[in-house]
Amino acid sequence: MTEENTPRRVKMLIIGSGPAGLAAALYAARANLNPIVLTGMDLGGQVSKTHAVENYPGFPEGISGEGLVKSFHEQAVRFGTEIIYDIATEVDFSEQPYRVKTYSDEFLADTLIVTTGAAAVTLDIPNEVEMIGRGVSYCATCDGHFFKDMDVVVVGGGDSALEEALYLTHHASKVTIVHRRDELRAGSILKKRAEEHPKIDFVWDTVLTEVNAGEKVASVKTAHVKTGAESAIQTDGLFIFIGHTPNTELFEGKLTLDDRGYIVVDGLMQTNVKGVYAAGEVADPHFRQVITSAGMGAGAAIQAIRYIEEKGL
Ligand code: NAP
Repeated sequence: MTEENTPRRVKMLIIGSGPAGLAAALYAARANLNPIVLTGMDLGGQVSKTHAVENYPGFPEGISGEGLVKSFHEQAVRFGTEIIYDIATEVDFSEQPYRVKTYSDEFLADTLIVTTGAAAVTLDIPNEVEMIGRGVSYCATCDGHFFKDMDVVVVGGGDSALEEALYLTHHASKVTIVHRRDELRAGSILKKRAEEHPKIDFVWDTVLTEVNAGEKVASVKTAHVKTGAESAIQTDGLFIFIGHTPNTELFEGKLTLDDRGYIVVDGLMQTNVKGVYAAGEVADPHFRQVITSAGMGAGAAIQAIRYIEEKGL
């Protein structure tokens, strides 16, 4: 709240600070809207925790996720974006301007761009959550260095699992990828690199059923999906990369969501509420790339700018 205890009035509020949010901010700032970005828990979203981004054009040698986000951030701020380290806790779209409460403030916004991203899915097995920070992790870049010369298990068969497994080979002595099928979902480049890597082994058609309890991770129990045979793998760490779920709790009952919880947008990033747009992974179950998220963010901002002009706001 402002000194007079009234909500801050803004033309554009962006909820979320990943590639979609920061790209939207850049476009809005360049249109002199002085957008405000509420960062959420971390500036930069998921990509900021990615070791290397090799498929964002303009960086022929690749760039770290952190480095890329830093550049997005600096560019958005350079043109007048205000970044606020706070989390939206309540939204009210019943009348315009739209009201957004955060932990420490309140805003009235003519337009909103929702870019709250997605969060890692858990396996939902005994002791998984209890052992987070004791050997269970969802972020190799954040926690990989704790596993120098140790053995780790990676769960998943998609691009994330392979990319993170490859990253973990820089620290761990052995990386065992456990996948529930006998075929990887990941793209061919990562697949080839992982399959050829001397430190990486695969355990196929297998799911994890339990993590040990105690001080730190020491083993995981497994079951073969075809035979049902139970086994165990001794390991120092467990990294889980089995997909993401959109961060849309705040918008339940306020915006139209699909059956998986993603915000439904039309081709112009418009949600079912006029002047409220969504971009990036929160509205994208298909592509989920840095470049597509940034593109959606730019598109949402362009539409929001047009909306403000048309309405004379
Ligand atoms: P994903 O492609 O959805 O893959 C999830 C993996 O986890 C799949 O192999 C899936 O098995 C497995 N899985 C799901 N639920 C499971 C469960 N309960 N137990 C065991 N295994 C489970 O997710 P992602 O790898 O995070 O990738 C998400 C998107 O980001 C994709 O579009 C991907 O291309 C993109 N991405 C791209 C890059 C890159 O281009 N460098 C890097 C990271 C991510 P099944 O295969 O059997 O379904």
